[in-house]
Amino acid sequence: MKTIRPPLSGDAAGTSDLLKRVSRGDLCTGCGGCAGLFPDAIAMRRSTAGFPRPVQVGPLPVGAEATIAATCPGLSLTVEAAGRTDDPMWGPYRRAWTGWSADADQRFRGASGGALTGVLTHLLRSGVVQAIVQNAADPADPMANRTVVTDDPACFPVTAGSRYAPSSPLEALPDILADGRRMAFVGKPCDAAALAAIRARDPKVARAIPVILSFFCGGVPSAQGGAALLAALGVSSDDLARFRYRGNGWPGRATATLTDGSERSMSYRDSWGQVLSRHVQHRCKICADGTGMAADIVCADAWEVDDAGYPLFEEEAGRSLVLARTVLGEQIARGAERAGRIYLETFDMAQLMRIQPGQRDRRRGLRARLLALRLLGRPVPAYRGLNLRAVGRQNGPVRNIRNFMGTLKRALRR
Ligand SMILES: Cc1cc2nc3c(=O)[nH]c(=O)nc-3n(C[C@H](O)[C@H](O)[C@H](O)COP(=O)(O)OP(=O)(O)OC[C@H]3O[C@@H](n4cnc5c(N)ncnc54)[C@H](O)[C@@H]3O)c2cc1C
Ligand code: SF4
Ligand code: SF4
Repeated sequence: MKTIRPPLSGDAAGTSDLLKRVSRGDLCTGCGGCAGLFPDAIAMRRSTAGFPRPVQVGPLPVGAEATIAATCPGLSLTVEAAGRTDDPMWGPYRRAWTGWSADADQRFRGASGGALTGVLTHLLRSGVVQAIVQNAADPADPMANRTVVTDDPACFPVTAGSRYAPSSPLEALPDILADGRRMAFVGKPCDAAALAAIRARDPKVARAIPVILSFFCGGVPSAQGGAALLAALGVSSDDLARFRYRGNGWPGRATATLTDGSERSMSYRDSWGQVLSRHVQHRCKICADGTGMAADIVCADAWEVDDAGYPLFEEEAGRSLVLARTVLGEQIARGAERAGRIYLETFDMAQLMRIQPGQRDRRRGLRARLLALRLLGRPVPAYRGLNLRAVGRQNGPVRNIRNFMGTLKRALRR
C-alpha cells in the first residue's frame, strides 16, 4: 500500500480568477482536482478553517482556466441521464440492490455492509483493475485521511469504513498516471464528479481509471470537527494511536485507541449528530449530488431510520445499498455476486426517500437555498441536469421559505 502526497499545512493565498470565485463563495469541496491537474501551479493546503484548499504556488499554463471551469465541482456539475432511468431525487441508475460483503470480516469492518470493499476485492481478484485508489487514516495524524493505492485485498482492513474527515483524492492524479496501472477510484460524490469531468477531457485519465465507485455523502467535517470529537471523548491527541469514525459493526462506534491500548468510544448518533455534523463545510450544505451520480457503483446505508435519519437499532449485521448507475457498474456488481464476493438482494427504490431523509431534504431545499445566495450576490455552483426544480416542488412552500430564510441568515452572518 502506497501513501500519496500527504496534505501540506499553510494558509490559502490568491489564485486564478476561477479559483478566486470558488474561494469567494466558499464553494471548494476539497476534491484536489485542480491540484492534480496542475501540480506545478496548485497545491492543496489545510486552511485555517481545517479544510484542504487549493493554493497557487506557480503560474498556470495556457488553457488551465478552461480546464478548471469544466472540471471543478465547486463551479459546476452536470448530470446526463443518457437513456437510463432518471429518478428526479436519486439521479440516473440501472439497478438497485441491498447487499453486503460475503467476507464476514469485510462486512464487520465496513461502514455499512462492506459491499464497497467486496466489490473492490472482485475488481482486483478478477483483474478488471490492477490497483485501487482509496482512503485510509493518516498514520501521522489518526484523525486525518491520506490517499492510498492498494493492490492487495490484504490491505482492505485498513481502508474499509467511512472516515468523516477531509480527503483530496484527486490530488494524486499525477502519481496515478505515473504509476501506469489500470485503477478503480473510490471517492466522495464530488470527487467522482470531478474525475468524470476530467476523464471526459483526457483519454489518458479515462484509460488509467476506468472504474469510479462512490458512496452517499451527507458532508465532510473539518479537521476542527475531528479535534472536537476527540475532546468530547476526553482524549488528548498526544495519547492517540488510532481512530475509527465508524465500522466494526453497523453503524459502529467512533473509537479512539490510545497509546496504552485502552479505548474510548461514542455512538454514531452522538459522534455525527452532536459533534461532526456541526463542522461540515458550506459547499456540502448546497450540494446537489450527495449520491454519486457520476459513479459506476455507489453504496450507502440501507437501514431503517428515525425522523432525523439515525438507525432504529444500536448495532446490527451491516447492509449496504448498492446502486449500479452505469452498464459497467451493473456488470461489475453482477460479476462480484457471481464470484461470491458480495450478496445482493433486489431493492425497491421507493423506500429510499424514507431511509435517506438527510439526502432527501437537502435536495428538496436546495433551490430555495441557492436562490437566497444568488440574491445576496454570492457565487453558487452551476447545476445542470439535477432536477432541482422538480425536487424543490416536493419541498412545499413552508419548508422552501424556511430553507430560504435560514440560508439568508447564515450567509449574512458569515
Ligand atoms: C464523509 C462521508 C459522509 C457520508 N454520508 C452518508 C450519508 O449521508 N448517507 C449514507 O447512506 N452514507 C453516507 N456515507 C457512506 C457510508 O458511511 C458508507 O460508506 C457506505 O454505506 C458504504 O459502506 P460500505 O460498508 O459498503 O463501504 P466500505 O466497504 O466500508 O468501503 C468504504 C470505502 O470508502 C472509502 N472512504 C471512506 N472514507 C472516505 C473519505 N473521507 N473520502 C474518500 N473515500 C473514503 C474507503 O477507503 C473505502 O474504500 C458517508 C461516508 C462518508 C465518508
Ligand atoms: S472543488 Fe476541487 S477542483 Fe475545485 S477548487 Fe476545490 S479542490 Fe480545486
Ligand atoms: S456533501 Fe457533496 S460537496 Fe460535500 S463532500 Fe459530500 S459530495 Fe462533496
